[in-house]
Amino acid sequence: MFDFEKGKIRFIRGGKYPQSNSLLIDDDLRAIIDPACDEKKLRSLKSERPIDIIINSHGHEDHILYNYLFPDAQLWVHALEAAVFKNMDAFIDQFFPPDDMDEKTRADGSQLMTEVIKYQPREPARLLKNKEVLEFGQTRVQVLHTPGHTPGHLSFHFLDEKVIFLADMDLVKFGPYYGDNAASIEETITSLQRLAKIDADVYLVSHGKEGIMDGDPAHIQRYLNVIYQREEKLLDFLASGPKTITEVTTHGSISNGWCGWAAPEMKTGRTFSSRPQHCKAWTFNLATDLWQTVLPADFHQSLQRLAHNFFGLVHR
Ligand SMILES: [Zn+2]
Ligand SMILES: [Zn+2]
Repeated sequence: MFDFEKGKIRFIRGGKYPQSNSLLIDDDLRAIIDPACDEKKLRSLKSERPIDIIINSHGHEDHILYNYLFPDAQLWVHALEAAVFKNMDAFIDQFFPPDDMDEKTRADGSQLMTEVIKYQPREPARLLKNKEVLEFGQTRVQVLHTPGHTPGHLSFHFLDEKVIFLADMDLVKFGPYYGDNAASIEETITSLQRLAKIDADVYLVSHGKEGIMDGDPAHIQRYLNVIYQREEKLLDFLASGPKTITEVTTHGSISNGWCGWAAPEMKTGRTFSSRPQHCKAWTFNLATDLWQTVLPADFHQSLQRLAHNFFGLVHR
């Protein structure tokens, strides 16, 4: 049943989207972080002894997938994530800019989430704070607010076991995902830098083949470097002259699918708004419909123009 055990920590793999790995704290208080690994296994855990607490690392569908199996458990999440649990509109808005969604798209999204992950509004019983230490019996867990992937994303530091559950800072080869409306590249970088400084024997993550790694900060550094490699790749490509969005996405610097970089138009806006110091060298030229390099002097003007206009591009 368990793929990793230490102290009262029990780790259960199931990290292939739309599922994610789960972590059971099998202590006096029984808690599951992200009940999303496998419906049968979770039902079986529940039949052994009730689950007192569900903690969600964040409000993405692949982490709250089987929350509904535990209607009597308390829900603990970060305050910046709470609205996503309480309200379907907030849940959907974390993915898309609200102005960018018509009524039908919203209704279709709501229906999908209700049917597939059985989304039901749920009031968190406790809002977790950065650095607070939770006690479950013999297990002490320090909450780490690690925003970027989502605003209220949490990682969990098991102080005595020297284990960190990094959740969707998932150390996969592909690199960090920050393609949603509520994501931030800048915060992703800061969070990863903070995590790399914590002394740990083991990293547990939500996705990837293994989900279990030795606590070597080089894993985090490699993952973080993917962000800079993506930017280098785009800059290299644009060095040969302006490109259309199709050319950019075909080249692979930015994907137009749901696999790391979302729709290029939205992604461009995010890149600009969250990382100006790193992004001064390229922009999307609205007059010509081409991506191109810009001089740093033009940068702020380009940024503003883009911020005002980029949502309009999506439906062109
Ligand atoms: Zn996620
Ligand atoms: Zn995930």
